Amino acid sequence: MPTKEYYQSHKERYFQTHQEWRERNQERYIQYERQYYQDNRERILLKKKEYRIKHHDELSKKKRGWRKNNKHKTEAHNASKNIPLDKNCSFCGSTKYLEKHHPDYFKPLETVTLCHSCHKRLHAKEKRHSLQVNDP
Ligand SMILES: [Zn+2]
Ligand SMILES: [Zn+2]
Repeated sequence: MPTKEYYQSHKERYFQTHQEWRERNQERYIQYERQYYQDNRERILLKKKEYRIKHHDELSKKKRGWRKNNKHKTEAHNASKNIPLDKNCSFCGSTKYLEKHHPDYFKPLETVTLCHSCHKRLHAKEKRHSLQVNDP
């Protein structure tokens, strides 16, 4: 009948081998992944290309939309360059890290002074909102 010590040492050995096995196989697995990519590189790249071609209209529409969205943002920022900031964030009253926010980018001269964190929070909220609303 095995003693407690025997069991203990056996257990340790078991865990050690098991760990070694795992490490060895992880390496093998990584190697396998790498090999798979090398063997199928052209097929993988082709698939990516096919995806781009298939979804070209969609993707370019998205890109165009992004550019359009960001164009008036840049313009608004340029137009409001000379508008001074308020002394405080109009949300939390902070006097640090103040930034200009445009509630409406199509009215570039209407700005709100916000601190960086309130500004970030506000835009995060906007993003979440715009995800729910489908643009026509
Ligand atoms: Zn903003
Ligand atoms: Zn603030």
